[in-house]
Amino acid sequence: MNMGKSVIDFNEKKGFICDMDGVIYHGNQILPGVPEFIQWLHDEKKEYLFLTNNSGYTPRELNQKLARMGLDVPEEHFYTSALATAAFLKEQAAGCSAFVIGEAGLLNALYDVGITMNDVNPDYVVVGEGRSYSLDTLTKATNLVLKGAKLIGANSDVSGPIENGIAPACRALVAPIEMATGTQAYFCGKPNPLMMRTGLNMLGCHSAEAVMVGDRMDTDVISGMESGMSTVLVLSGCSTKDTLKTYAYRPTMVLNGVGDIAAMASSKENSTR
Ligand SMILES: [Mg+2]
Repeated sequence: MNMGKSVIDFNEKKGFICDMDGVIYHGNQILPGVPEFIQWLHDEKKEYLFLTNNSGYTPRELNQKLARMGLDVPEEHFYTSALATAAFLKEQAAGCSAFVIGEAGLLNALYDVGITMNDVNPDYVVVGEGRSYSLDTLTKATNLVLKGAKLIGANSDVSGPIENGIAPACRALVAPIEMATGTQAYFCGKPNPLMMRTGLNMLGCHSAEAVMVGDRMDTDVISGMESGMSTVLVLSGCSTKDTLKTYAYRPTMVLNGVGDIAAMASSKENSTR
């Protein structure tokens, strides 16, 4: 079944960065093999992060979301594009100020690294997805960028699934500001490898010791690959075997789901004992 480049020895790897939607859950449904995978991460004392490009949720809200599905994952194991954006701004301009269009996940992340809110003359305009988006906030953001604020997007997702179709996501929400100002935004989330490098720092892992697990070639696999990590494409989300054919790069391994990781690691461990 593996259509990747080679085989990963999961027992040898120290760190795992796992996308969530299509990997851990789909909608409000836990995917098969996930409880076993999480148990394996705990039992083997692996470092791990569960990752989402959605900037709206705080780690505590993600902890509660998974708890409602019966999974116990402590807050410190969640990593969002909001946290990546906060880490980026702290590194670029510690103590800077920002005008922010977004939800609690983004606002809290920025506050936590000492960024202050400013709607008069901010250093940055930061846009995430969220309900505070309106013609008023767009107009405000546009004029602040024209006055010199730098434009940042939490992630470059164009759209995301909702119950009755799709909703415009961060990339699409930033586009009007780019068009009106003639400015290009910088996006911090996947597929920017910056998000993986920051995640590796959080785990205390070198890229060669870490695995990126995701269900998308154009965000998960490419950002893992470009950061020097081993990559696993799981077919439990939006990709099929045919998806692979349309990309010029391959993941290290292709698996049906994360349950395969725990199963492969356990069988290898038993066979070498
Ligand atoms: Mg996904």
